[in-house]
Amino acid sequence: MTTHHESLNSGFVSLVGAGPGDPDLLTVKGLKAIQAAQVVVYDRLVSKEILALADSSAEMIYVGKRLDFHCVPQDQINQILVQKAQEGKRVVRLKGGDSFIFGRGGEELEELAQFGIKFDVVPGITAAAGATAYAGIPLTHRDHAQSVQFITGHVQKDGREIEWHSLAQSNNTLVFYMGLKQSGYITQKLLETGLDATISCAIIENGTRPEQRVFTGLLKDLPTMAEQAVSPALIVVGNVTTLHDKLKWFQPPNSDS
Ligand code: SAH
Repeated sequence: MTTHHESLNSGFVSLVGAGPGDPDLLTVKGLKAIQAAQVVVYDRLVSKEILALADSSAEMIYVGKRLDFHCVPQDQINQILVQKAQEGKRVVRLKGGDSFIFGRGGEELEELAQFGIKFDVVPGITAAAGATAYAGIPLTHRDHAQSVQFITGHVQKDGREIEWHSLAQSNNTLVFYMGLKQSGYITQKLLETGLDATISCAIIENGTRPEQRVFTGLLKDLPTMAEQAVSPALIVVGNVTTLHDKLKWFQPPNSDS
């Protein structure tokens, strides 16, 4: 039994980040990879305009969540990628945003590496960059934030507890992914570790998409704000969010203002 299997053929997996929603935010390199793919393995957050870029003969495999179904387990996704590559196929593994930011891209590549399958990585615009850009919220700004942190809101599930004390600084922008359901806990922890209750925050729902909505308020009101928002949404905490009013520019085509 060998641990490193040599691939017998020229199968290849391209791990492509599709960006946060607006299909035009796909990179040129991502576009070329999708067009050349024989198999596309994709997640829920990938827009249908991007899926439509694939060749009509490409095999499209959905591995995201369905309404009441659970998502395809990670080891089964890994298995599909390995199997298709071993058949000699050009595979694109397509994920929302950037594959290395809360996207399990690393785990999937580790599996491919173990089987000796060749791969490359095409970065995507992560939600924190895309959604804030479209909301007119600069992640850093000389007057407001000297640093920015991306944090998962799936705190308990994803293992180790967040080091809250390292987050709670007034000149640090915090971007929480998957944080809507945990907004009460997040708020409580940030207040406990020293953030001011009146620091500004924002929720960006469906960022970069025609349905984009932005809610702004104070940290103490974050749990109430979160009740009005739906997934996918980002929570942004920090004084940069006060710039939204001045810098908002994105007019979703279906908005009435
Ligand atoms: N790899 C992705 C993140 C996957 S985790 C990336 O780099 O963007 C899924 C979470 O991303 C969602 O729960 C939400 O918090 C965030 N997200 C993804 N797309 C979004 C969008 N268009 N607007 C706001 N948040 C988004």
